[in-house]
Amino acid sequence: MEAMLANRLQKLRPYPFAALRRKIAEARKAGKEVLNLGIGDPDRPTPDPVVAEMCRAVRDEADLNRHRYGCDVPTAEFPQAVKDFYRRRFGVTLADDQVVQTSGSKDAIVQFAMGILDPGDMAIAPEPGYPTYNIGHTFASAVTHYVPLLRENGFLPDLEAIPAEVRRLAKLLWVNYPNNPTTAVCGLDFFRSVVEFARKNDILIASDQSYSENTYDGCVAPSILQVEGAADVAVEFFSLSKAFCMTGWRIGMAVGHAGALKALGLVKDNSDNGTLRAIQFAGAKALDMAETLIPEINAVYRRRRDLVVDTLNGLGWQLEKPKGTIYVWAAVPERFGGDSAAFASDLFDKTGVVVTPGAVYGQHGEGYFRISLTYPDEVLTRAMERLAGQR
Ligand code: PMP
Repeated sequence: MEAMLANRLQKLRPYPFAALRRKIAEARKAGKEVLNLGIGDPDRPTPDPVVAEMCRAVRDEADLNRHRYGCDVPTAEFPQAVKDFYRRRFGVTLADDQVVQTSGSKDAIVQFAMGILDPGDMAIAPEPGYPTYNIGHTFASAVTHYVPLLRENGFLPDLEAIPAEVRRLAKLLWVNYPNNPTTAVCGLDFFRSVVEFARKNDILIASDQSYSENTYDGCVAPSILQVEGAADVAVEFFSLSKAFCMTGWRIGMAVGHAGALKALGLVKDNSDNGTLRAIQFAGAKALDMAETLIPEINAVYRRRRDLVVDTLNGLGWQLEKPKGTIYVWAAVPERFGGDSAAFASDLFDKTGVVVTPGAVYGQHGEGYFRISLTYPDEVLTRAMERLAGQR
């Protein structure tokens, strides 16, 4: 029997840069050094106290549940740490039914769509944007309406420009600040306007906070739940992945609107078996120690950000230093006519440096490329030296 793909998988946008991927694979095979700056996965290790707590918990023979399904024997510590963190960090008080522990945001974003959307429903996602929003909609047989994030609007969506028909039909709107891939940050005023939009149009808001702790130069990212009454219309997805260098651990939380979280909880109950208790304990430790652990992690990204931006600006770019995320987002040089794949391919041929073409993030990402700061200093330094050698 031949392998079969469900229609919903065929609807996913294919990764459009097979040629670049092939080139990278061939170069690697030929023993050429490839300096990949494409992926946002922290190279720095998870902080010691978090690892130590994991080891303690996984070895704790007094905890008779330590090996069991995490959904059946959840820790009291993780949701408590979430509540404490939200109170300390954002001044937001969460009730028991306003916290759901997740296996990281990617999984939760898809599960949430399955819990909220019916076939034929419409949901709004930013473009350029994290592809998983649309993937969730597609798995739920719903339809994505994209709102462009444009430089002239500070890469914030123009909510007023969303057509009346879309406002009427849409059930859900995704926002993501600090933003992947544009690195834009937003203020509380923007979240206020989003909450107002949600109320006026009866649209649920899903705020992706994956990068809220990765900010620089005194920038402090707000939570949408700081807006009064936001929990009546919004759910926020917080991930420990980037904040604490814990991508592989798979832990995060969704907080806010209790009814929407119930839907997420039901999908989770029926499709996963929770997170190992030791990981929950470690996650609680990370959140409890956020103020101590995060500045050290961000100091590394800030230094790398400066290196990359200074190098690009030395080559003729005029970039401002991003205040958030772990990326640099820049326009492709004019001579490529806005073709991000052509630029990435040319750069790779000349330098062996891999950047992500902006078109990966949708049509409005075209004309840009993204560099991730999650590579060791020596890799980034060598990559920047090669770029500078292009002058
Ligand atoms: N949202 C955004 C915007 C992201 O960039 C990522 C990771 N690249 C995620 C969510 C998912 O992260 P995780 O599943 O590790 O929480």
